[in-house]
Amino acid sequence: MDPKPQYRAWFESLTNPAERHSLDEVVYTDADGGLLQVRHDMDELKKTSASEWKKLFEDRSNRTAWPYGSGVWGKKEWVLPEIDNDNVVSMYEGHTNLFWAERYGRELGLDDLWLKLCGNTHTGSFKDLGMTVLVSMVKEMRARGKEIRAVACASTGDTSAALAAYAAAAEIPAMVFLPKGKISTAQLIQPVANGAMVFALETDFDGCMEIVKQVAEKDGIYLANSMNSLRIEGQKTVGIEIVQQFDWEVPDWIVIPGGNLGNVSALAKGLDMMLELGLISRKPRLVCAQAAEANPLYRAYQTGFKVFEPVGARPTLASAIQIGNPVSYAKAVDAIERYDGIVEQATESELAEECARADRTGLFNCPHTGVALAATRKLVSNGTIGKGERVVVISTAHGLKFTDFKVRYHEMRLDGIESEFPNPVIEVAASYDAVRDEMLREIDRRFGS
Ligand SMILES: *Cc1c(COP(=O)(O)O)cnc(C)c1O
Repeated sequence: MDPKPQYRAWFESLTNPAERHSLDEVVYTDADGGLLQVRHDMDELKKTSASEWKKLFEDRSNRTAWPYGSGVWGKKEWVLPEIDNDNVVSMYEGHTNLFWAERYGRELGLDDLWLKLCGNTHTGSFKDLGMTVLVSMVKEMRARGKEIRAVACASTGDTSAALAAYAAAAEIPAMVFLPKGKISTAQLIQPVANGAMVFALETDFDGCMEIVKQVAEKDGIYLANSMNSLRIEGQKTVGIEIVQQFDWEVPDWIVIPGGNLGNVSALAKGLDMMLELGLISRKPRLVCAQAAEANPLYRAYQTGFKVFEPVGARPTLASAIQIGNPVSYAKAVDAIERYDGIVEQATESELAEECARADRTGLFNCPHTGVALAATRKLVSNGTIGKGERVVVISTAHGLKFTDFKVRYHEMRLDGIESEFPNPVIEVAASYDAVRDEMLREIDRRFGS
């Protein structure tokens, strides 16, 4: 490569390409209050051929050379090309396992069902992919002399865990605003343990968001929510990574749960770059799955995206997607439309039972993944997804963050949910005879005599 390529990226208004900002500017929206996106100098990236990019990404994968061993920073030229490697804050996120869920697929009526376990990562959710980029940029900005006192986010649990961890690693003060009593214990303890200032507010996510926006505006605190499009740059690597894991073959469908809708937008953005740079030549179809209790995108989809109304998000077991006014709505609609997409929804009962069904095949799903799996079941049942098609379901968080929900399911204590597949713990006296009696009874009950 000669002369040395000068990769560049900047913030650009979604609706007015003439409005650009440097990535080290503290700016989250365009002049009209609309979202920004990060744009790359594609002409410069095109000087490297598709096969050279593939080889570069493969050579870096799962190695340790700083910072390219990260699934995100292995694609640094496509993510944040101008950042100094010394300012990257990474815990080698990405490279999560993508595996063939054979038994569960059979139960769903699919021969080629795959799960991408984005929860197998440092803080247990895909939010790490975006947060490594955002926090790295903050470190870079501070190194360039910008005054940023702290980073902050509103969160339904996973964003705050990721922000707290990456900020702690970089010695940047962090504060997180959570809806009181609405996130799991595991999610709450992560930012507490990582030393963030943790504020529990008597409101929901949308209420926390309103407050953190004011804190960002009035108090010089850097906003780490996904309206900050730096996060999207990291999250977009998930689609690239899936295709890379299939040796650059494109699956037929990718199913993803959606709340604030940054992640489905990010997925499309990664695919867009691969298409434009020639790494792939066809598109998968996308499915965004929402909880029926918090389904503004689903409702808009029913109107052909003609009408969008924020909803008051009702409580859902899928607490990370209990969002009524998704910030990335416009980006998500664009993604769904361009990828021949579908929006599905799942009720509380559907998501809980689906999690249990899948868990019985050896998976261990978070409730949001349950929403995606329940949506997949519906689309297989109604013939939209064909038996032989290759389907990837993005599992967004680790099930271990949501054990409260699983415990209550198996103890049959979830309100309004039948628990079709309960597996209660068998309490028994500590004697061989008592154990034997119980064991035989249980074998008989489960498998017949
Ligand atoms: C954040 C999150 C989502 C939703 O992602 P959006 O970008 O808000 O649509 C889904 N699942 C889990 C586990 C999450 O943490």
